Amino acid sequence: MALSSMTSSNPTAAGRYPAGSAAFAHRDLIALAGLAPWEILFLLDEAEQWVELNRKPHKRDDRLAGLTIINAFFENSTRTLLSFEIAGKRLGADVVNMHAAQSSVKKGETLIDTAMTLNAMRADAIVIRHQSSGAVGLIADKVDCPVLNAGDGQHEHPTQGLLDALTIRHAKGDIAGLKVTICGDILHSRVARSNIHCLTTLGAEVRVCAPPALMPADIEALKVSPFHDFNVALDGADVVMMLRLQQERMSGQFIPSPREYRHLYGLTLDRLARARPDALVMHPGPMNRGIEIDSNVADLAGRSAITRQVEMGVAIRMACLDVLTRRSRKVEGWT
Ligand code: ASP
Repeated sequence: MALSSMTSSNPTAAGRYPAGSAAFAHRDLIALAGLAPWEILFLLDEAEQWVELNRKPHKRDDRLAGLTIINAFFENSTRTLLSFEIAGKRLGADVVNMHAAQSSVKKGETLIDTAMTLNAMRADAIVIRHQSSGAVGLIADKVDCPVLNAGDGQHEHPTQGLLDALTIRHAKGDIAGLKVTICGDILHSRVARSNIHCLTTLGAEVRVCAPPALMPADIEALKVSPFHDFNVALDGADVVMMLRLQQERMSGQFIPSPREYRHLYGLTLDRLARARPDALVMHPGPMNRGIEIDSNVADLAGRSAITRQVEMGVAIRMACLDVLTRRSRKVEGWT
């Protein structure tokens, strides 16, 4: 259902989405592809209370007290793991982190056996990062509790897409109609994929820019405009989102050299001048300063939203954990 077709016969909170669990009728959060605009808006709106709480000295709400959340990370992470842990703890849950390097995965245990083990521990939510696209969805089918995808291969990173949308909304207001340029390793980037689904669903005009070898062949099916010339892709952009080269997902040589890559696709101050004068600069991290983004751009006061993205990440993850556990907590209206 399009936003415009929501009517008064659909009682809504603020008229933006259906009431109760119909506002987000999914057990898991695996991908942003396929979500309705109001489902995304609902999660963004839910996160606003946590942005506020997180700015207070006392950052605690105990609505998840007694619940156990397992963060199972089969791939490295700094921001995502830490922010899911902080999010769960600020909501009063018991949070346990499983690092694959110290787990039985290293002893040859299959993904499904690991999933069954986590399930047997009666977690109330499991947050999973895995190097294989589709692995998180596979585990979700085997367990009894909500599963949140913290990044699966080059498929999706839904909470990143949501936190980016929240960051843009805080800086620019309505996302509909904004021109967003995403530049870098589009081919291997789950962040690009989640952002594309999220931002196009909310009505933004999304341009993607990459060298030919790092542009997915079927990119136009995602309702974005592809560019190989970064200077052209930047013209009039409201938001410029830079991506890291995902070396760990590359087999073979995709770029001639880091120096040449920076020359053609690095965000420098000069190049940023091609975007709108108030264009927002974003990067999901970790950054490779001096390659896809220059330090004086990454740290540009008033324009760089990179640390704001991290702040929004905690609020979005609190919102997702709260919303997805409402059914098991028997919150009124969540059936
Ligand atoms: N941190 C993001 C991810 O996990 C982006 C990156 O690693 O480049 O996908």
